[in-house]
Amino acid sequence: TYQVHIIGGGLAGSEAAWQLANMGVSVRLSEMRGLDMTPAHDTDFLAELVCSNSFRSDDAENNAVGLLHQEMRTLGSLIMACADEHRVPAGSALAVDREGFAGAVTGRITGHPNIDVVRERIDELPAAGQTIIATGPLTAPGLAQAIARVTGSDALAFFDAIAPIIHRDSIDMDVCWMAARWDKGGKDYINCPMNKEQYEAFVAALNEGEKTEFKEWEKDTPYFEGCMPIEVMASRGVETLRYGPMKGVGLDDPRTGRWPHACVQLRQDNALGTLWNMVGFQTKLKHGEQVRIFRTIPGLENAEFARLGGIHRNSFIRSPELLDGQLRLKALPHVRFAGQITGCEGYVESAAIGLLAARFAAAETKERELPAPPPETALGALLGHITGGANAETYQPMNINFGLMPPITGPKTKKADRKRIYTDRARDALKGWLPEAEAVPA
Ligand code: FAD
Repeated sequence: TYQVHIIGGGLAGSEAAWQLANMGVSVRLSEMRGLDMTPAHDTDFLAELVCSNSFRSDDAENNAVGLLHQEMRTLGSLIMACADEHRVPAGSALAVDREGFAGAVTGRITGHPNIDVVRERIDELPAAGQTIIATGPLTAPGLAQAIARVTGSDALAFFDAIAPIIHRDSIDMDVCWMAARWDKGGKDYINCPMNKEQYEAFVAALNEGEKTEFKEWEKDTPYFEGCMPIEVMASRGVETLRYGPMKGVGLDDPRTGRWPHACVQLRQDNALGTLWNMVGFQTKLKHGEQVRIFRTIPGLENAEFARLGGIHRNSFIRSPELLDGQLRLKALPHVRFAGQITGCEGYVESAAIGLLAARFAAAETKERELPAPPPETALGALLGHITGGANAETYQPMNINFGLMPPITGPKTKKADRKRIYTDRARDALKGWLPEAEAVPA
């Protein structure tokens, strides 16, 4: 027997299980991988990262996701602890060795005496008992239909894409060089420089390259703006990529002493430094076309790909309308939702909502109600957006950002200073809420 049933052992479900278990609540964690797969996962590990290995900026003073990292660490986040343990160099970003990270999460969860990990696929919403649905953007179809029956509408959806990963020893370092943009935070990226002719030929190749076709029912599904495929960017104009993932600014090429016209950056993907991913290069080009076109990038002529890019349809629910402030389904209050299926976007955000769902559920097992974190905090801002702040009609997945927090009032401040004001205010607000969050008796 168990007190809370978590369905889905991804970023959100693993974090939720850990939080509950550490508060003395017994958990059944149902994860289908091991029996069944999603179209984007490759392993049986809990908390597998399906695309980039980056948790984005770790700057808690000037960046909203860095602030969210800090708040999660304060609340004993497993996802953040394992990310910190398996960090690989990435300038001021927090990037991880994907296998080391997921292996560590899996080990800690399966080893916890209050957690029972069961490899099973769940196709119906449990009729009773506290439940957290954390089945992610690729929720298996049976359960997705069961959810749609209760929510009265088909799940919403958008497209998210994956970028390729390259073997380091196949990269020509006589052409590429190591540096971070504006020399910030070491020399952590591999840079592949392009001159104007090379860049324009590359954009033309992307435009002409053969893409995976969408199915008829997929045609009206929008892209997530933060994860736009490169060929879609290329189709918007010849300069679009040069203002996006192929920016050359701030990168002094040691061979010319100048910034290249355009540049492709690669970020370390594993602790050994043997695998590197193409930053911002998510794509739905056909696999053969990816190999052909990406090998025209200077330095990548002989690139060997450990994984090629791809695109997947992500599902989420109309949370602002369907969930209450405690992440419970209004129509079925023993069921909570957590992770990307709520319409937050990103590994960190998904885990953060898992953390909150667990804290709320733990309080409920003690017949208490934990108030939501203040909207000035990153956790509170994200939760507030999902559970009411966003317009339910136009609801689309959202990363954490300062725009989700109450605006700063008072005298006009410089843009750079405003970030500090947001993060200082958030830290003060979190301090006020922590005693409530910690008060749940074990
Ligand atoms: P997941 O981590 O997907 O976990 C859900 C789990 O539930 C999975 O383990 C799955 O096997 C399991 N499951 C599903 N249905 C069932 C069922 N019926 N029964 C039992 N188990 C079930 N975010 C980023 O920050 N950076 C990126 O680069 C990035 N790229 C992405 C690329 C793609 C193709 C996709 C789909 C998403 C991407 N995301 C990315 C978005 C998002 O952050 C991740 O999907 C993240 O893993 C979401 O966390 P989650 O816990 O909600 O879901």
